[in-house]
Amino acid sequence: MKLQERFQHTLRRGRALRYKTYKKIGVARHRKKIDLSLFLMFMFCAATFPFFLTPKESHPDVSEQKEVPAQAIEDVHADLGDEPVIEPKQTSLDELEKRVQLGELTLNMASLEKGGSLLSLLSNAGVSTGDRLKIVDALELMIDLKSLKPGLMFMLFKTPDHRVQGISCQIHDGEIIAVIQEEEGQWTPFTAAGRIETQSIRKIGTVERTFSGSAQKAGIPESVVAQVTAALDGEIDFATDIHPGDTFDVIFETKVTAGGLEVGTKQLLFIGLKTQKKEIYRYAFTAASGTTSFYDARGRSGAKAFMKRPLKARSRLSSPYGRRRHPILMYEIFHHGVDLAAPTNTPIMAAMDGVITQLGRKGGYGKYIRLRHTDGYQTAYGHMNGYRQDLKVGSKVKRGEVIGYVGSTGRSTGPHLHFEVLKNNKTVDPFRRHVIPSKQLSGFELEQFLSAAESLHPDFAQHRAGKIPPVQGLRPFQSPVSGKKESKAVNHKKSR
Ligand SMILES: [Zn+2]
Repeated sequence: MKLQERFQHTLRRGRALRYKTYKKIGVARHRKKIDLSLFLMFMFCAATFPFFLTPKESHPDVSEQKEVPAQAIEDVHADLGDEPVIEPKQTSLDELEKRVQLGELTLNMASLEKGGSLLSLLSNAGVSTGDRLKIVDALELMIDLKSLKPGLMFMLFKTPDHRVQGISCQIHDGEIIAVIQEEEGQWTPFTAAGRIETQSIRKIGTVERTFSGSAQKAGIPESVVAQVTAALDGEIDFATDIHPGDTFDVIFETKVTAGGLEVGTKQLLFIGLKTQKKEIYRYAFTAASGTTSFYDARGRSGAKAFMKRPLKARSRLSSPYGRRRHPILMYEIFHHGVDLAAPTNTPIMAAMDGVITQLGRKGGYGKYIRLRHTDGYQTAYGHMNGYRQDLKVGSKVKRGEVIGYVGSTGRSTGPHLHFEVLKNNKTVDPFRRHVIPSKQLSGFELEQFLSAAESLHPDFAQHRAGKIPPVQGLRPFQSPVSGKKESKAVNHKKSR
């Protein structure tokens, strides 16, 4: 059995290699025929080989023998007549996509899990065992399935009764491979290069009441609006700094298939905001480190403020930072963080981009995570109920990413997050404003940024030459408009 498996594997590898070669020379659509011809040529050579070794005279019927394989080709071809015609049918995927737009089919996205296989992905999608093997077999003709990386997205086209009609996937170099069921149980593989196109969409508008409402009215998708507010978090308070009459200019990227279907997530590329007080222009750029940030037209990134309440729900400040009278022991102790009371298992977020330096139980803190950030900052999170599963010491996390859940482990009287901010190894008040200062791109990165920004926005030169207000780290508390904000600010002073 083992030997047989190995034999089959070798056959399959050989087939994959051959098909790659066919693809290279552009005859992939005829691969079955070429395979067959090669096989018959081999058989023909093998059959005639003995005749070349023996004297010709003793075999007067050699010429007749030669005719036989030619006859065989015809015969085998006749047998293949009702085999599925395997050809790259570029229209098939288009048709599936059109049927999605007509509502006849639904489109589901599924990504390859870490350690998971394509078979398990198909199984989760409800594909029958027989079809699973056929799909995998068909895909294997085109790619080495072992080379598939976790996170690779597959598009599954399903009928209303949840039967998969087709599966497509965009592999590394933009090439699309797909397997489509043309008739019951017959799965046809094909490739189509460059089918998904990236489009940049620009939307300009004026704020009527709120930014997010007006932005969506102008055709900016909700997910992009959320990216705008996240990118300007700490610089602009969308509740108080934006007024009717302010204008916005947003460019985002979307991926569209040849059939006109939008896939994947939309990416924010540019934000322009003209408010009564300032003009902001921010360009998205992915630095060499792989992180995407927003930069002004001169290649300077905005400052990032630490979250003051890194919880994904409303929380109550149950104990502020600083001196306090111990409720039981009645003497003054120093509280090195803030206690944020919230229900058990409320998600806890990283207050800033950083790296995990500690993760585990730590005395009275209970389950504990410590993050290291740039600029001498660290943050710590205590009394957690649990950690996000895939995290460990050394994991990188982004600001706002969930790291664990509220609990009451360690010395704690009820579910709450004990949150500390440290600057140069000394705790500071988390409710004061802490900011990672802005950064200036330089050298080759700056050149790359400038050329990308120039091709993105027609007014780039103006943004760059114009009076660009300095990227602000601190947002001034707005006194006349926001009574709420002011009272908060006063509270901070008291609690310090
Ligand atoms: Zn505490």
